[in-house]
Amino acid sequence: MINLKPTNLELFLPSGKKIKYLLKRRNRRTIGLKVDHDGLVIHAPILIPRSRIEELIAPKLDWIQEKLSLQLNKKKKINWKTGELIHILGNKVILSLKASKTNSVLQDKDILHVDTNRVNDQIHSAKLVSKWLKEKALKDFVRRVEVFSVKLNVHPSNVYLSNAKSRWGSCNSKKEIRLNWRLIQAPPHIINYVICHELAHLKEMNHSNRFWEEVEKVLPEYRSSEKELKTLSSDLYLIG
Ligand SMILES: [Zn+2]
Repeated sequence: MINLKPTNLELFLPSGKKIKYLLKRRNRRTIGLKVDHDGLVIHAPILIPRSRIEELIAPKLDWIQEKLSLQLNKKKKINWKTGELIHILGNKVILSLKASKTNSVLQDKDILHVDTNRVNDQIHSAKLVSKWLKEKALKDFVRRVEVFSVKLNVHPSNVYLSNAKSRWGSCNSKKEIRLNWRLIQAPPHIINYVICHELAHLKEMNHSNRFWEEVEKVLPEYRSSEKELKTLSSDLYLIG
């Protein structure tokens, strides 16, 4: 029995993640994909089995995920209020704002306590948390750079935070490493990837095979991290 009414279904990714989609059967020969504000819509021929549809769209999963996260971000923005979730090192952390005479930010497990002298001023809260995140990022990144410098046998001269609009990291001939502070929101393996990428440039100032071999030596899984970072990018830019 083939259901001709549009059906809400779920697609399971190899990562275990689920993607919801709306299946619309049509009198057509090919499968069509569309990502709009309601999510993924698949147009498929009437008689093709669902398993075959999912097989056929498998090569498009990266594209689908990228489009879905773009759509999501069009709707999303951070509400700098109690109860809002942000990410620190890939973990969900809940904001808890409290009116106070002084400003301070303190993380207690999965709660980020923000004492603020302007509790209803969201821009002020955003600034307080961003400043705190930058401090945390620098400490975290410096430690990781130390660890991976030893593994790669490179000697960076300094680590700085960057506020770049589209780059996660960079390095220069003075062996200075710059890392986007927003990365502190990402899971550790993503941060490690960006750091190893930049450190490997201290050996190979290009993206040649030799360069990627250096990255692979310390991070055999770097390809999936690189992909994940692409999908995550627009989320990381919701802040600041
Ligand atoms: Zn590079």
